[in-house]
Amino acid sequence: MPEGDTIFRAARTLHRALSGAAITRFESAFPALNRIDQDRPLTGRIIESVSARGKHLLMVFSGDLILRSHMRMNGSWHIYRPGERWQRPARDMRILVATSDFVAVGFNVPIAELLTGRDLSRHQQLKALGPDLLASAFDAGDVLRRMRAHPGDAIADALLNQRIVAGAGNVIKSETLFIAAVDPFQPVGALSDADLMRVVSVARTQLQANVLDRAHTLSPAFGRRTTRSLDPQAKLWVYGRGGKPCRKCGTAIQSRKTGLDARLTYWCPRCQVSRPADAEPRSG
Ligand SMILES: [Zn+2]
Repeated sequence: MPEGDTIFRAARTLHRALSGAAITRFESAFPALNRIDQDRPLTGRIIESVSARGKHLLMVFSGDLILRSHMRMNGSWHIYRPGERWQRPARDMRILVATSDFVAVGFNVPIAELLTGRDLSRHQQLKALGPDLLASAFDAGDVLRRMRAHPGDAIADALLNQRIVAGAGNVIKSETLFIAAVDPFQPVGALSDADLMRVVSVARTQLQANVLDRAHTLSPAFGRRTTRSLDPQAKLWVYGRGGKPCRKCGTAIQSRKTGLDARLTYWCPRCQVSRPADAEPRSG
């Protein structure tokens, strides 16, 4: 699953390239989108904005039409100049939005729909999203309340649950829990408020750092770094490093498949040890 920073960067890059321009061409592999395009043509509409909400990308067109897309595991948006060679085969194209200066192509985007503003405000998945780690107005207290509603879930799963907090993917999850020195399998109910807040704060910092670092790329998993090392071989603390020595203590990094999607969690069994939460009082 792409991280929130990937979607956020994609939205920002698309916004810079497309906003204010008129659509000169629209194509899609989704019959439902093409039907709407026939009834209410997209060509000629102004692209008003492109933004991210959690892992949803929203492209707002004039005349009350919004393209919502979700990348899931393999989808990505690319931006090209007209005539420029695509980096992915044309058969992977799912959506194309062109202006006179740019061609935005959604490759392997699994979910896309055209909505009105009213549809969007009632959208169940968007309404259910927890606070967005990359939003400037971030309500950490709300995240804490949502976490506390899942006391039996492992913190690693809670951090990926977009209904608790939106934006973290699998890489940031493992990296965050290492930096926060929290055992990924410890249930939320066994962690203190301070521990949970530290985890959320680290996740936010990591995502923000990656947004600032990499303004240009739109593709997932490109060059994310959390260690601050300038060595390109040492970008991440634990993710993808199963069996290799921990960069802090030398212990072999462990990995295990967890959760419904059997996503790999990486951790250091020495640096990330469960600690009892009773040492710290828990607020109501
Ligand atoms: Zn370690």
